[in-house]
Parts: sequence; C-alpha cells; structure tokens
Amino acid sequence: MHDVIIIGAGPAGLAAAFWCDELGLDTLLLEQQESVGGQLHRIYNPISNYPGLKTANGAEMLEHFAAGVDAADFDLWTNVEIESVNLRSRQIALRSGESLQAIALIIATGVRRRRLGIDGEETFIDRGIIESGTRDRELFKGQDVCVVGGGDAAAENALLLAEVCPTVTLVHRGKSLRARREFVERLKGNHCITVFTESRLQRIIGTDRVEAVEILRQGAIKPFQMAVGGVLIRIGVEPNSDLFADQLPLDQQRYIVVDARQETAVQNVFAIGDIANPLAPTISGGAGAGATAAKIIAARLSSRAP
Ligand SMILES: Cc1cc2nc3c(=O)[nH]c(=O)nc-3n(C[C@H](O)[C@H](O)[C@H](O)COP(=O)(O)OP(=O)(O)OC[C@H]3O[C@@H](n4cnc5c(N)ncnc54)[C@H](O)[C@@H]3O)c2cc1C
Repeated sequence: MHDVIIIGAGPAGLAAAFWCDELGLDTLLLEQQESVGGQLHRIYNPISNYPGLKTANGAEMLEHFAAGVDAADFDLWTNVEIESVNLRSRQIALRSGESLQAIALIIATGVRRRRLGIDGEETFIDRGIIESGTRDRELFKGQDVCVVGGGDAAAENALLLAEVCPTVTLVHRGKSLRARREFVERLKGNHCITVFTESRLQRIIGTDRVEAVEILRQGAIKPFQMAVGGVLIRIGVEPNSDLFADQLPLDQQRYIVVDARQETAVQNVFAIGDIANPLAPTISGGAGAGATAAKIIAARLSSRAP
C-alpha cells in the first residue's frame, strides 16, 4: 500500500511527485510512455512564461524537470500499461498482472491531439504528416502543403510553413476561423495561403508518402483532389479520461471535474493539470495543481484535515 499513486508523468504529475516526496509521502509515479515529460516532447517553440525559467523548447524544459527526478526519492515506473482502475478502493490493475493500491490517487493523464479519423492519417505518420511547422519546416521546403484546423495552432503553423512552401491550403470545417485576429489578418495578407472554410479533409492519399488530399467543400456534390507533399493537422485536443469515465463526473468535453482542492467527486482521488483544466492549460498551472493535491493529501494523512 503506497501513500500516493500518481498516474501520468507530464509536468503536473512530476510536480505532484516532487511535492509528495518533499512532504514525506511514499509515492509511486506511473507513466505509460518510455520517458516522462508528456506534452513537453511536442513543444518546439521557446517557453518564456514559466516563472524563473526560459527555455528554447519543451525538451530543454524537460531537462530541468528530469534533473529533479534523479535527485528525488519517489518511485517512477515507465512503460506502464494500466488495465483498469477502481477509484473507490484506489486499486490499479496493470496489464502485466500486478495489482497496486494507495491511500490517495492523483490523476495527471493530460490531453492528446484530436484526430480526424480519416484514411491516411495514421499510415503516413513520418511520411508526409507534418508534426510541427517549427520543427519540420525545412523538410517540406519547396512543397505544397495542407493544414487542417481553424484555431491559433493551425493558423500559426500555416504562417510558418508559408515562409518556405509555395502554397499552403488551410482547410477548416467552420464558417469562420477561430484563430486570434492578428493571425487571421496575416493569413489574409499572405498570397501563398488559401483558406477553405466550411470544408472537410476526407482522405490523405499516397503510395510511399503523402501525394494528395481529398477535400469536400460545403454544397459540392463531390470532393476534389489536390496534390500536396505534406499535411499538418491541428484540430484541438481531447482529455485522457477514458479509464475513469464511468466512475467520475466529467464535463461536457470529458474533462474531470474537481473542487478547489483538486479533488474529484470520489474522496482521496485528485485530478491535476490539463485533464482537469480545459480553460487555461499551462505548465505552471499543472505544477501548481500538483502542489495543491500533494499538500491536501499530506495534511489528511497526518490527520490535520484541512
Ligand atoms: C505545442 C505546445 C506548446 C505549448 N506551449 C506552452 C507554453 O509556452 N507554456 C505553457 O505553460 N504551456 C504550454 N503548453 C501546454 C503544456 O505543455 C501543458 O499544459 C502541460 O504539458 C500539461 O501537463 P500535464 O502533466 O497536465 O499533461 P501532459 O503534458 O499531457 O502529460 C500527461 C502524461 O500522462 C501520461 N498518461 C496518459 N494516460 C496515461 C495512462 N493511462 N497511464 C499512464 N500514463 C498516462 C501521458 O503519457 C503523459 O506523459 C504547450 C503545449 C503544446 C502542445
């Protein structure tokens, strides 16, 4: 029986583990990936909004977080596959057959990129699906590309790619773009960028690599094909709450609902970071929420109920 088991080793889970460790709690941190860091692995831009630390990208931020892991005393298991979780008894069954239990659970499973669910989206990963405009721009230099989405991330990536690609086609299913006004103005003024609103990407086509996309415009009877060498998809994120969905109240978008203590509707089960914060997901917010949950748990365990 551990004092605390934390599920997910992104910034929020790591911050919670550091705090639990400092507060003398017997802590186990579980991560499904090979390494800790969560979304930090996908940040290719400078991070300048974390207090006291400016880094060139998420990887550099992760070096600072990971340095703390080596120095700390909590247990960290990576490559962990969770089969099921019983929140009321705080028992976790792993695919490996092991069973774990804790007095308190902290859920820090974050969010994943939303997928279109169309043909070619999975097949062409690393073969024409563009992971990031910042990271991959040089790889797609001189090629026509397609960007899907209507928010800030899609607009920003389209603008970055337009610096090196002859044409960028932005496909958005809504009537108008959701991106901030500054981005929309820059898109309009860029002669390399064409915006198709009320349009859907239906298929990504190719043999070895991406060669074309199929787009259906609203009102059209048939889709049309357009030759492109790359496709970048930014249609938002969704919470990793499936494991807990039938045991906890979720909001309409399936984020976990918590109170000011970061506690869920199940006593001694906490949720922190992006999984419980659809409004303002940030590294610092996740770290703060981790500290809150750890302090509440430590106070409860020493029977100083807050
Ligand atoms: C491109 C980009 C730029 C960003 N820029 C900034 C910025 O400048 N400033 C800022 O503050 N924030 C930024 N963010 C947001 C920031 O990265 C997130 O708010 C932060 O990573 C959230 O941390 P988290 O720990 O809650 O979740 P995540 O980082 O999503 O980590 C969740 C972890 O849980 C693991 N996990 C999920 N399910 C399971 C399971 N069943 N079992 C075990 N482990 C599991 C995942 O593998 C992952 O490691 C950016 C994000 C992106 C994508």
